[in-house]
Amino acid sequence: MTAKEIRQAFLDFFAAKGHIIVPSAPIVVKNDPTLMFTNAGMNQFKDVFLGEAPAKAPRVADTQRCLRVSGKHNDLEEVGIDTYHHTMFEMLGNWSFGDYFKKDAIAWSWELLTEVYKLDKDRLYVTYFEGDEKEGLEKDTETYDLWKQYVDEAHILPGNKKDNFWEMGETGPCGPCSEIHFDSRPDNERAEKSGADWVNADHHQVIEIWNNVFMQFNRIKDGSLHSLPAKHVDTGMGFERLVRVLQGKSSNYDSDVFQPMIQFIAEKSGKKYNSAAKPGDADWADAVAMRVLSDHIRAISFAIADGQLPASNKAGYVIRRILRRAVRYSYQTLHFKEPFFNELVPLLAEQFKGVFDELYNQKDFVQKVIREEEVSFLKTLGNGIYLFEDYLENPEKSMAYVVHDHVENTKAKTIPGGFAFVLSDTYGFPIDLTELMARERGWDVDMEGFEKALQEQKTRSRAATAIDTGDWVVLKDDDNVEFTGYDETESIAHIIKYRKVTAKGKEQYQIVLDKTPFYAESGGQVGDTGELVFPNGEIIEVTDTKKENGLIVHFTDKIPSTPDDALTAIVDATKRNSIENNHSATHLLHAAMKQVLGTHVNQKGSLVNAGYLRFDFSHFAKVTEEEIAQIETIVNGKIRENIQLKEERMVAYQEAISSGVTALFGEKYGDYVRVITFDDSFSKELCGGTHVKATGQIGYFKIIAESAVAAGVRRIEAITGTAAEDFITEQTKLVQQVKDLLKNPKDVAKSIEALLEENNRLKKEIEKSVLEKSSGLKDELAKTAENINGINFIAQKVALPNADAIKNLAYNLKDIVPNLFLVLAADINGKPSITVMIDEALVKEKGLHAGNIVKELAKEVKGGGGGQPFFATAGGSDLSGIDNALAKAKTFIP
Ligand code: ATP
Ligand code: MG
Repeated sequence: MTAKEIRQAFLDFFAAKGHIIVPSAPIVVKNDPTLMFTNAGMNQFKDVFLGEAPAKAPRVADTQRCLRVSGKHNDLEEVGIDTYHHTMFEMLGNWSFGDYFKKDAIAWSWELLTEVYKLDKDRLYVTYFEGDEKEGLEKDTETYDLWKQYVDEAHILPGNKKDNFWEMGETGPCGPCSEIHFDSRPDNERAEKSGADWVNADHHQVIEIWNNVFMQFNRIKDGSLHSLPAKHVDTGMGFERLVRVLQGKSSNYDSDVFQPMIQFIAEKSGKKYNSAAKPGDADWADAVAMRVLSDHIRAISFAIADGQLPASNKAGYVIRRILRRAVRYSYQTLHFKEPFFNELVPLLAEQFKGVFDELYNQKDFVQKVIREEEVSFLKTLGNGIYLFEDYLENPEKSMAYVVHDHVENTKAKTIPGGFAFVLSDTYGFPIDLTELMARERGWDVDMEGFEKALQEQKTRSRAATAIDTGDWVVLKDDDNVEFTGYDETESIAHIIKYRKVTAKGKEQYQIVLDKTPFYAESGGQVGDTGELVFPNGEIIEVTDTKKENGLIVHFTDKIPSTPDDALTAIVDATKRNSIENNHSATHLLHAAMKQVLGTHVNQKGSLVNAGYLRFDFSHFAKVTEEEIAQIETIVNGKIRENIQLKEERMVAYQEAISSGVTALFGEKYGDYVRVITFDDSFSKELCGGTHVKATGQIGYFKIIAESAVAAGVRRIEAITGTAAEDFITEQTKLVQQVKDLLKNPKDVAKSIEALLEENNRLKKEIEKSVLEKSSGLKDELAKTAENINGINFIAQKVALPNADAIKNLAYNLKDIVPNLFLVLAADINGKPSITVMIDEALVKEKGLHAGNIVKELAKEVKGGGGGQPFFATAGGSDLSGIDNALAKAKTFIP
C-alpha cells in the first residue's frame, strides 16, 4: 500500500464505524495560552473534553498535522538522529465523545491493524496502565481483560504513569491509555530476545505506533484530578510510523513518505543516502543531515502556511530555531553554501496536494519566506562556525573574541555559558544548535552559565513577566456561553465563573458570563471594553475581553461584592463603532487590493482597533503611490455606495467556499461559518467580527502608511471615520501654514522648488566667498609672523564662519611659512574655536605637540579638544577667553 492508500484506509474504516471525518486543525494554535502548536489530534477538541463546548458529533476521525518541538512534548533533539520521531507528523485519530468507550476502541484498533492492514499479530504488543499509588490511581484491569480476548497474555504488558497515563499539559484532560507497539526486528533477533523486553525501552525497531487514551479526568492547578462529566476515547496513531511498518521498512525515512525528498537532497548534494549508517561510520553525518532536512522542511512549511512566520520571539522563534538547525546541517554537513533548503518546498507541496492543500495554495510564498531566512542566516553562520571551531581548538586564545561575563572555563571540554550566549546573541545560533554542534564533537555546554547570561540580558531589558493563573471559582454549573454582541451592546447576564490571574505583580480577574455582548479579541479585532453594572449600583470595569478555548473571558481589576446577582453587561459603544468602521473597511480594502494588485494578495495578519487598522498581506513588491490611490478610490467609492451589510451566521462551510468567499489560511473553521458580504460581487469573507450596518457609516478611508514586514509580506495602515477626518484637517492646516509662510503663491510646490534652488545657489556662493576670504587672509596673516628662536609664531583671531575654512587657511599658511607655529581662534556661531598647527620639523626637533597645547589653551575658553602633534582643534563655551588663549600660546615656545 502507498502512504496515500494507507491514510485513506484509516479514514474509510472509521467512517464505516459511524465516524464523521473532519479536517485537520491548523498546526499553529490560537486562543490558548498553554499551547503554541498542535501536539496531538485531541487539541482541537480540548474544549469538548473540558465540557466547554458541545461535540459536533459523538464519533469523529481525522488526520491531524502535529508539531512536537516545544513544551511538554518536545522531540526535536531526537529528530534525524533516530528514525521514528519527527518534528511535524500526522496523527491519525478516532474519537468518542461520551459515546463508545474502552471495549469498542480496543476491538476496532485490533480489527484495523490485523484485518485491514494485515499486520503480523505475533509482532504486536499492547500495554495497559499498572496504576499509581502516589496519585491514588487504580490499575486498569478493564483494559487488560478486554485485550485478553484478542492477544496472547505474553503480549499484554503493564506500563507506568509516564508511558500509560496521557496528559496534554500541566493541567487539562487526562486519563489512562493503552499503547500498541510493533516489533520489526529480523526473526533471528526476535528468537534471541522477546519483543516484550523492548517495549518502551527506546529500541528503534520496537516502536509505539498507536495510543488509545481513555479520557476520564481533568487535572487542575493544585495537581489534583477531577472526574470529567463524560468519558471519552481519544486515539492517536503516528501515520509515518504506520506507513513504515506496513511497507516493511526499518526506518520511517525509507518509506514513500520521505524517500522522494531524501533522494532529491542526495542528488543535489552529490552524496548518497545510506539508511544503515551507524554513529561512527563515515556516512553517518550525511545520513543524519538528510533526515533532518527532509523532516524540518515539513514543520517549517506547514507552520508558515498556517500563519506563523519565523520571528525573534515566542512561536515565531521556535520556527526560526528549527529552520536554522536545518540550514546549519545543509551548510556544514552537506556543503550547500548557497540557500538550498527552500528548494524542498515545491516537492513537499506536491506531496500534500489533496491532503493539506494549505501548503500547495501558498507554495511560492512559503518558499520565499524560507529563502529570505536562509539568506540572512547564512550571512552570519560561517563566522559563527569559525568562531566555534576556533574555540574548540584553542580555548585560551579564543577568549580574546569574547567580551562577556561567565566566560571562565570551569570544566574540561565544556563551552562556557557566556560564549554560548555570544553565539546566540551575535551570531543567531539557537542554543540547541550550539549544544548539538558541541555534542557532535564530544563537548558539553555550560547551560547554567548560558541561562545566567540570558537571564541577565532579560532582566536588563525588562522585568520578568511570569503569569500565575488561579483555578476557576465556579458559581453556576453551566458552560454554555451565549454571545449577543452581533445584535446588541447591552445584555442581562450572570457570572458562571471567575478566577484570579497575577502577571508582573499585578492582580487581575477573569470573569466568564453566561451571556455577553462583549466581543473577545480574535481575527485581528481587539476585545471590547465596557462595564458590568450590578443591581446594588456597583460598577466593574471591563478592561479587555479575550477568548480562551471556547470561553469568552472578561478582564477586570476586581470582582463584584455580589457575584451571584444578575448584572447588565454594557459594551463601550462609541469605541465599538470605531472598531466596526475599521473592521468593515478592512474587508473593503482586502477586496480592493485583490482588484488592484492581483488575486495572489492574501491576508497574513490584521489588527483592528478603535484608532486604526493594520493589514499584512502577501505581495512581492512595494505598493506604489498610484496603486495606493487606486485602492483608496475603490474603497471610498464602496463607502459612498452605502452598501448594506449582509450577515449570514450559519452557512455550511463547503457551500460558503464554493460560493467564492475569501477564507484565511491557518484559520480553524467549523462546519458552519459566518459570512460577511458587502455587495455580492465585491467583498465576501468568512469572519466572526462585528461590522457596520452599511458602509456609509465608515465615512472616509485613508491609507497612512505602507511598509515591508517580512519577506513577501507588506503592511498597510489606514484610518477611517473621524480619525480620517481629523487627519485630513491636520494635513490641510499644514498646507495652509506653508502657504502663509510663502505668502500664498499660486503653485505651492513650484514656489518651494524655487526656494530650494535659490538656497542651493546661495550656499555655493557663500562657500566660494569664504574660500576667497581665507586665501586673502593667508597673505595678511603671513605678514604677522613673529620670528622667535627660529620659530615663525602666528596667533590671531580670524573671522571665518566654519572649521573647514579655518583648516584650509592653516594648511595654506603652512605652505608659505616655514617653521610655523600657528594658533587661530574664531567665533563659530557664537562658540569659540581654537586651531593649532605646528610644522613637522618643529614637532620633531623641539618636541612641540599641537594636541597637548590646544588642550591647555581650551581651558581659557572653558572647553576641551585634542588632536595630532602637528594639527589639533578645540571648542569651548566662553568667547571672552579668546584673547587670553592667544596670549597664552606664546608661553609654549621653547
Ligand atoms: P514515543 O514514546 O514514541 O515518543 P509518545 O508516547 O510520545 O511516543 P503519543 O503522545 O502517545 O506518543 O502519540 C501518539 C502516537 O503518535 C504515537 O503512538 C506515535 O505513533 C506517534 N508519535 C508521537 N510522537 C511522534 C513523533 N515525534 N514523530 C512521529 N510520530 C510520533
Ligand atoms: Mg514522545
